[in-house]
Formats: sequence, structure tokens, C-alpha cells
Amino acid sequence: MLRAVEPDSLLVRGLADNPSRGLSPALDRSTTFENASGGTSPYGRGHAPVAEEAETLLGALEDAGAAVFASGMTAWTCICLAVLGEGAALALPTSGYYSLEGFASEILERFGVEVRRYDARERNDFRRACEGAALAIIETPSNPLLTLTDIARAADDAHAGGALLCCDSTFATPLLQRPLDLGADLAWQSATKYLAGHSDVLAGVVTTRDDDLRARLVWVRRSIGGVLAPDPAWLLLRGLRTLSVRVPRQVASAAELARRLADHPAVRAVHYPGLPGHPDHGLALRQMPAGCGGVLAFELPDGASAGRCEDGVRLARCATSLGGFETLIERRARTEPEGRVPEGLLRLSVGLEDVDDLWADLTQAIAGAVARADAVATTER
Ligand code: PLP
Repeated sequence: MLRAVEPDSLLVRGLADNPSRGLSPALDRSTTFENASGGTSPYGRGHAPVAEEAETLLGALEDAGAAVFASGMTAWTCICLAVLGEGAALALPTSGYYSLEGFASEILERFGVEVRRYDARERNDFRRACEGAALAIIETPSNPLLTLTDIARAADDAHAGGALLCCDSTFATPLLQRPLDLGADLAWQSATKYLAGHSDVLAGVVTTRDDDLRARLVWVRRSIGGVLAPDPAWLLLRGLRTLSVRVPRQVASAAELARRLADHPAVRAVHYPGLPGHPDHGLALRQMPAGCGGVLAFELPDGASAGRCEDGVRLARCATSLGGFETLIERRARTEPEGRVPEGLLRLSVGLEDVDDLWADLTQAIAGAVARADAVATTER
């Protein structure tokens, strides 16, 4: 079949043809397969044709080998099981996707992994954490504060300390950022988000150019049963077909909303590295020249007004997660421990709706949220 070169064509055409000549991928739900003359019988924990089709496509996007998993966290579990062991050290940021902290403190430390927490804004702290470590994880852009990490510099620092570098690139997708080109050993994404794109699939993907590392990951995945089942793999492939249209549209709308929010009198701060005033803007231009993604965060004066704002939206939906076709808003302090994120912080995952409709929705929700606060203050006086 045609070997497409540009990611847009690759995503649409895929790299496999359905033997039935149907245009959608073949969905084979078999958990076991007949012996090929004399060989061992393939079993569903080690062989799933539709998941392998998704892997081939995701690997081709990054000129790498890919492995897909039952969720983003299953992928992370397999990375840790493949690379870490008792006494090995992991460098983990103190900010970013919060479940990694729970996984580290409740599981990894219990099994004797040394977890070295570092401040992602301090290069020396990262270097210190990487010295003699087996694995370092960075997340860029980070969830939910959208800070960026210089991937090439982190790869140099991790390798100088002897650690493999894993980059969580969920917010970026391979269309906006290619961590392996910048020296990361593993690029990890929650495919639940942009890749699948429809808020109806849990999936994870890891890409690497190290064949041995990929083989170890696949072995661990088979051992623990962390495979992506055929149905979600099929839905992931279906989502991937439109990735290259969804992401640029979401980036354009997020950038526009970030600009407008930055000028809104009730908004205390906007976190979006695409904004010229953002501390990571220079790095964003170098590392993510095609755009900074479809997620932004903004702050209202306090938790109560942020709570009223998420309750007040009508077009956007108040729900967790991100990267789907629909706009989602969430006050993150509701789900993260006190002090980790500002109380009034709202994360906005921008979807495919009309940008002016989204702006009208946000401004009415903010006006309602802040007007209530003013009214309460007046009554109290
Ligand atoms: N990484 C990031 C940045 C995430 O936001 C998430 C989920 O929200 C994950 C990893 C975990 O992915 P999953 O929910 O698919 O297990």
C-alpha cells in the first residue's frame, strides 16, 4: 500500500488495509489464534491485530517503535516495572499530573524505589535528582499549569546523571512536539486525550527508538495484562484519522481564548505558553513552533468564584479530562491537595466549538461568578 509521508496523510490513510477491502480497520476480537504450523498459539495478551495496527501508525508518526496500553497510567506502570527496581531512583517533578505522585508514594516507594522529587523550574534540582537515577520523568506542557520543560536540556542532564529520560507529551501530541528528536528515550502519552479525541476510550502509548527497551515494555505489558483491547484500539484508530484537523483548530481557539482572557478584568492570570508574556514563551517558540496545544488555565479571584464559573458554563461542560472534541472546564483545586494549585485556577480544554460561542459562554459564566461575589461582599458590608 501507499506509504504516506506527511503526518496528515499517514493518519488518514493508515498503514494497513482491511483484508475484507472495507475502509474501516478490521476489528478482530479473538483472544486466541490457531497455531501456525508447529508454532506456539498466539494469545490476546501478546497479540491483538487491531492494537498492532494502531502501534504501527503511532510509531510511524515519530519514526520510532510504539507500544499501546490499556490506559496512560498502565503505560506508566509498565515503564516503571521495566526500568525500576528495589533501590533504583526515579526523578519525579513536584508539579504536573498529580496521579504520578500518588503512584510514587503509594506504590513505588512501597516496593523500595527511591523517589527523588525535583522542582521543574530549577535545572540544578533536576540535575541533582538525576545523578545515579535509573529514570527521570518530565511533563511538558504540564498539567494543569502549562509550564514547559526544555526537552533537549533535560535529556542532556538526565543522560549525564545516567538516567533514561521519559517525556509525558500528552498535551502536545506528536503533531506539536517530538520528544525523541530532542533526545528523550521514551515519549509517553495518555492516548485517552487528543489521540483518541472523543472522550470514549482509555488508552496509553509509549514510543521509543530503543528496540530493547520497547521489547522489555511489551514483555511487562504481556505479563501484567496491560494490553489495549481490540474495541478501544479500533476507536483509537478511528480518532487518529482526524487528529491533524482537530489539533490545529484546538490550538487556534485556545490561543485566541487565552488572548481574550488575558484582557478580561476579572481574570487574575492566564497560563498559556503561547502568550508573549508567559515565562516559557521563548522556549515555546523553539520547542513547539506549530502551537502550544489546546489546553490553557486561568485564575479567578478565589475558589468560590471559580466554582461558580464552572457551574455557570452552558456550552462548555464541567468535567475532568482533556483533549476531546468538546470543551471541558474544571477547577483543579477540587481534585488536587491543598497548596498544589491556586484555589481559583480553572483548566480549560478547548474543543471544536465556534470560538466566539465559547467566548460568549465563558464571559457570561465569569460575569455570573464574579457578580455573585460582588453581591455577597456588598451584603456583608
Ligand atoms: N498524563 C497526563 C498529562 C494526563 O493528564 C493523564 C490523565 O489525565 C495521564 C497521563 C494518565 O492517562 P490515563 O487517564 O489515560 O491513564
